[in-house]
Amino acid sequence: MTEIHSLMTGPAPLLGESPDRRETGDAYWRAGGYREMSPDLLFNRVKAAGLRGRGGAGFPAAAKVQAVRAAGSVPVVVANGAEGEPGSVKDRWLMRARPHLVLDGMLRAADMTRAARCYVYVADDEAADSMRRALAEREPVVPTWIVRFEHSYVAGEETSAIRRINGGPALPAAKPPRPFESGVDGVPTLVANVETLARIALLAARPQTPDSAVLTVSGRGLEAELVEVPVGTSLQALAYRADRLDTPGVLMGGMFGGILGPGGLATALEPAALAAAGSALGCGAVYFLAPGECPVGLAADGLARLAAESSRQCGVCVSGTAALARTMTSVVHGTAGQEDLARLSRWSQSLVRRGACGLLDAAANLAASLLRSFGPLTEAHLDGRCPRCSADGTPDSDRFQVAPPTVRTTSHPVSAPR
Ligand code: SF4
Repeated sequence: MTEIHSLMTGPAPLLGESPDRRETGDAYWRAGGYREMSPDLLFNRVKAAGLRGRGGAGFPAAAKVQAVRAAGSVPVVVANGAEGEPGSVKDRWLMRARPHLVLDGMLRAADMTRAARCYVYVADDEAADSMRRALAEREPVVPTWIVRFEHSYVAGEETSAIRRINGGPALPAAKPPRPFESGVDGVPTLVANVETLARIALLAARPQTPDSAVLTVSGRGLEAELVEVPVGTSLQALAYRADRLDTPGVLMGGMFGGILGPGGLATALEPAALAAAGSALGCGAVYFLAPGECPVGLAADGLARLAAESSRQCGVCVSGTAALARTMTSVVHGTAGQEDLARLSRWSQSLVRRGACGLLDAAANLAASLLRSFGPLTEAHLDGRCPRCSADGTPDSDRFQVAPPTVRTTSHPVSAPR
């Protein structure tokens, strides 16, 4: 069962006071939510706070809002709750437990961009039900629809959300045009992750809200946890909490942030420090390898998962992810040679930014990070089968499975935006 904890020194602004219970609209209102405020004032707060997207790429939220504001026609806002990265459940929890915090943030984003319509884009049944009930509990001032789709890695891409809302499949589209230029029904569209929107609501309620992130922490033999931490917390503090200070490595951001070696534990969980370490927070999924668990096997499993998740729309992705996965598996099996390592190294550079979406980048980065952090260990696999890799060498995608925490329904006030 996934547990929920806070590492904040004071109140946990995102987890709230009772994160295992669903917050009602009345409770959220009584605690100070949904209060009117100037959209320009809020925009300046978002900009001053340096808020970055919490779904993957970490793009500055104010810049996205500004791009849509400047695009020139009446826009649309999409609350992106797709959460396609393996090992992440924080967005599902947020929509299940704090739907009004998400809706409040979405409506404030609509106010800042002067949008006329909103969409909540969600795959998870329980999260969709919670959001639907939230819309019934408090009718939104901007018409809002819930759009469903089948969960997949690529469904979370901004262009996938737009295609799905426009009546097509939840698959990425080529860019340009970018969503802020032409999105839902061809109008400028702000697609924002649900945690990003929740933080906008928190900034509206109280500008000095501490900057925090909700992480999904997991690993073989660990009880998965949702943990709210102050931005800047070290990975070491998380490893200590999880009793994994002896971890041989950390997979960051689902697949998005690659694998860090044990030296990476000193890295602070904030964008600049992670970028300097060649990593990224991404969706906030943190997977600690267990002592004895092989990073090469982990990379092979991750690449197999990405190859299986490819939407097969770009030839370079179809062949590139398959080649990366196949070659990494041959390393695990002890059947690869130096020329295979050279190919992995070459592909990990040459495939970047070649696909229509981030999946191919994630695959290339996963391979590059393994070679960077575990070069000698990877090379040692050329001498024969690794005893630490999975027994029969078949991909183990179960290792990335995390169940969202249980959230109960209650009529009591459970949390506060301020
Ligand atoms: S890069 Fe891969 S997953 Fe992304 S759109 Fe192209 S084929 Fe699909």
